[in-house]
Amino acid sequence: MGRLLIVSNRLPVTVKVEEGEFRITPSAGGLATGMRGLHEGSDSLWVGWPGELPRLSEARREELEQRLAEFRTAPVYLSQTEVNRYYEGFANGVLWPLFHYLTDRVRSDAWKDWQTYSEVNERFAQRVAAEYRPGDTVWVHDYQLCLVPVLLRQLVPEARIGFFLHIPFPSSDVFRIVPWRTEILEGILGSDLVGFHTYPYLRHFSRSLNLLLGVEPDGERLVYANREVRLGVFPMGIDATRFSALAESAEVAAEVQSIREELGKRKLLLGVDRLDYTKGLPERMLAMERLLEREPSWRGRIRFIQVVVPSRTKVESYKAFRRNLDELVGRVNGRYATIDSVPIHYLYQSVSEHQLVALYRAADVMLVTPLRDGMNLVAKEFVASRSDGDGVLVLSEFAGAAAELAEALQVNPYDADAAAMAIHRALTMPREERRTRMEALQRRVFTYDAYRWADTFWKRLQEPPAAEVDRMLSPAGPMQELAARLRAAKHLVLILDYDGTLAPYASSPQLAEPDEELKRLLKALSSRPGTSVHVVSGRSRELMSRWFGRLPLGLHAEHGFWSRPQLGGEWRPLKVRALEWKRRILPLIELVAARTPGSLIEEKTAAITWYYRMADPELGARRFEELRRLLEKEVSGLPLEVMTGPKSLEIRVRGVHKGAILDRLGAKRGITLLAMGDDATDEDLFGALPAGGTAVHVGRGPSSAAYRVADPAAARRFLASLLA
Ligand code: UDP
Repeated sequence: MGRLLIVSNRLPVTVKVEEGEFRITPSAGGLATGMRGLHEGSDSLWVGWPGELPRLSEARREELEQRLAEFRTAPVYLSQTEVNRYYEGFANGVLWPLFHYLTDRVRSDAWKDWQTYSEVNERFAQRVAAEYRPGDTVWVHDYQLCLVPVLLRQLVPEARIGFFLHIPFPSSDVFRIVPWRTEILEGILGSDLVGFHTYPYLRHFSRSLNLLLGVEPDGERLVYANREVRLGVFPMGIDATRFSALAESAEVAAEVQSIREELGKRKLLLGVDRLDYTKGLPERMLAMERLLEREPSWRGRIRFIQVVVPSRTKVESYKAFRRNLDELVGRVNGRYATIDSVPIHYLYQSVSEHQLVALYRAADVMLVTPLRDGMNLVAKEFVASRSDGDGVLVLSEFAGAAAELAEALQVNPYDADAAAMAIHRALTMPREERRTRMEALQRRVFTYDAYRWADTFWKRLQEPPAAEVDRMLSPAGPMQELAARLRAAKHLVLILDYDGTLAPYASSPQLAEPDEELKRLLKALSSRPGTSVHVVSGRSRELMSRWFGRLPLGLHAEHGFWSRPQLGGEWRPLKVRALEWKRRILPLIELVAARTPGSLIEEKTAAITWYYRMADPELGARRFEELRRLLEKEVSGLPLEVMTGPKSLEIRVRGVHKGAILDRLGAKRGITLLAMGDDATDEDLFGALPAGGTAVHVGRGPSSAAYRVADPAAARRFLASLLA
């Protein structure tokens, strides 16, 4: 088995230069913890930025490279300007606020930063490609490296690449604000597997693909650029056992005791966050203020310790944010401090792991109330540290963790009053309820821990693509043999569907007009000795006449209800029962169409079709179901049937289907039949083919056809090969 190449912005080690010597120490972050099992357990290499370093000579870089190799890491060096533009300017100045829905913080002057972001992503891809050996698997992490999958795919087409997004993926309406939206989506789609923390993030991503690239994911998979890309939900966990072991250690126990002694009878509230505008810190202070205002009995009886870890200190907006927060804390404290107590203890510093776990363990109530957070590991660390089974978690419903931690008290951080009441409820919650909730939370945090997260993603990434896609992407060998057999036939009859087979679907059915190249191809095929060509479609005969009327073809409209067997011939209908049902059914369909903007109706002689390709995809799908149920009730007992087509629904006279045209061709002995089609209506034709006839399915999806080509372009190439 090949190696695992992990790619992230930062390496999981910190490099310092002390008295001319490199000092390398492992760093602890959530990603390093999550990946530790895989990084240590398997043969792996971690590619990333080693952090800011003084300018190094070529020789020194080489030396560092060798030292880093001992930790199975490989550096991508970045200049100061690159860090400013790629990391601070674009990743943290554009993508971070945008993906957290804080659109007014998104920089709108980021052209150069985008340029550098692309260049740095290219550098990462090149470094990975240089390390890549056949059989290796690559796992790319997070929003700093969205373009690496596609850039790497260009360098190493056969590589197996996974991408995990550690922050939220926003609603498509927010995502589409970013000018480089298509590049970012295409970048990520270079992967074989794309992972998110929660299902809503996955849904937003799918919707953006649909809206911006016209790609339609089929649940958790899609085909893009002729490759399968899978999507999945993998909520990240923590090393829960480690936190509970730490919580049980003598050192932490002593610290907990000293915190509690100092508190006396006061209740302890705790917040631990990086200084970031996504964490809801000002809103949390306002909630505290509201609590003390509404419930004066808590004044002097609570202490709120808020640890704020310095972060991105060089970014101007973070500096301004910090000043505001300082001011707010001062205001609340000024208002509610007493001679011997101050409500908010505000620590702008990082704390040691022991102190952190002691605080988790000592707190009565933990406040995790971000405005938006991809996951939030602090919430899970708190839960894992409560080996005493006590403590209450107040959790923002906008944290990814909320999807898993249903037993926390969930709040809307923008609603200061409701948040204040949730804190009050947490402070007064009976012991029994605290225990029940904590037990349930712990079960989840211990089961779905960091190792499980990494392992699940990794295993999923190893799975081969679905067999169906394999078939679709299979080499052209059998198609060539088929073409040779057809070329050798004495009497060849081609029955070709139009939409989705000879031409791709257009947003509106009227726009899918045949191009000159196709007309030439059809003409050339029908002039070939011993060959006749029929085009069969669900379209009306008027349209078929307009499009193909002058070509030497057999034409079959409305799925074979109307046929014009040869050039100059008459259109003849199938004999069917009276058509008065249409007068009753049409208004029903019109009602649904009116409620589905963008959808439209086509009335044919023996059928009515409702198309919704231009409608909103979700609304369209919902109305489709509604209409299908409605029509199925209507047709019961009548000689009618309801057919599902691509982005359409049709009600038609039973027995009028593409298979029926075979009878009219007057199947002779010694002819070789080839049918090509892409949807369920063509399956009727395939099913009716006599022995010896051959069916070719165009595109994805289930089919009874023995052969398959990828798309209309491939179908045309195949037909052209018959002329050779
Ligand atoms: N943390 C830290 N230093 C501290 C306090 C906390 O490194 O002084 C850690 C904390 O244990 C947690 C991480 O910082 O693992 C914060 O992760 P989270 O997912 O909550 O938020 P992020 O900072 O990734 O947005």
